[in-house]
Amino acid sequence: MGLSAGRRVLLAAADSPLLGRFVQRYGFRLGAARFVAGQSLDAAVPVLRGLNDKGLLTNTTLLGEGVTTEAETAVVVAAYRELLDRIAAESLRTNVALKLTHLGLAFDEELARRNVAELVWHAARHGNFIRIDMEESARVDATLRIYRLLREAGHDNVGTVLQSYLYRSEADLAALAPLTPNLRLVKGAYLEPADVAYPEKSDVDAAYVKLLESALTGAGFTAIATHDEALIEHAIAFTQEHAISPQRFQFQMLYGVRPALQLDLVRRGYAVLVAAPYGPDWYRYLMRRLAERPANVLFLLRNLVRS
Ligand SMILES: Cc1cc2nc3c(=O)[nH]c(=O)nc-3n(C[C@H](O)[C@H](O)[C@H](O)COP(=O)(O)OP(=O)(O)OC[C@H]3O[C@@H](n4cnc5c(N)ncnc54)[C@H](O)[C@@H]3O)c2cc1C
Repeated sequence: MGLSAGRRVLLAAADSPLLGRFVQRYGFRLGAARFVAGQSLDAAVPVLRGLNDKGLLTNTTLLGEGVTTEAETAVVVAAYRELLDRIAAESLRTNVALKLTHLGLAFDEELARRNVAELVWHAARHGNFIRIDMEESARVDATLRIYRLLREAGHDNVGTVLQSYLYRSEADLAALAPLTPNLRLVKGAYLEPADVAYPEKSDVDAAYVKLLESALTGAGFTAIATHDEALIEHAIAFTQEHAISPQRFQFQMLYGVRPALQLDLVRRGYAVLVAAPYGPDWYRYLMRRLAERPANVLFLLRNLVRS
């Protein structure tokens, strides 16, 4: 089956400023709180601690993307520095994931590189780690260029993401291999044209298996970021068959998605990281979560009716 109409509509809605303002006003109370750790860092800290207390690792993100001025990126960098200091002060088992368009990538690649380098450096001082999320396909070249420059400059506490829906990802994985990369593998969350991404879900899933097996048999660290139980069980069987040490991979899921499965994997002895973002600018993040599972729209609507 191709990309469903529901998913298409929700991903298009992610770019609608009018709908964004409406949902931003009412949506947190009505359902975004299921997927977002808090509208502020102060609200997110106890959520992160609660997840850690259950044996889950966490990462967090100051929500926001598509920033358009250098001054705005300076505010974002300052917020991430504060976040890294706070994580250390609170002794949280939390690292940071961020988007390069939040640091200026959409208008100045060199600025985004400088900004992320500063944050990777700051994270290293705290013994922490930064993951660079992967955004739309138009950003992949620049994102991988910046990741490579950081690694070549000697930063080891940084990783990035490959999306199995993109035809190019297998080649990107091979090209990154000499860096012993730390890579999160995902299916991909954006609306992409058929000339760059598999339109059929079954092909995206099959490509994920190939990427996963190549990454796990390579030398780096693999973050298996999916809620797909068949894929998770395949990964477990594959690592057992190939005697791949549990030090070399972890599972990652989103806050609010399959929480029972997260804890079940912890009970089975696997490292599981829950991605729990925060901040007032959560609208586009929420829309991507709804698009992944249009049944989540019903969850939101039920809360609307009850309120
Ligand atoms: C930690 C993490 C980081 C990510 N980072 C990125 C990134 O940098 N770039 C990017 O493009 N994408 C990213 N994604 C999103 C990813 O690309 C997928 O859109 C998302 O994970 C859904 O795909 P799936 O692998 O879970 O499989 P699917 O086949 O979509 O889902 C499998 C099952 O999981 C459950 N499920 C999946 N999504 C939801 C949901 N939203 N709500 C409720 N149940 C759900 C359902 O039961 C579904 O049947 C990230 C995902 C995770 C978990």
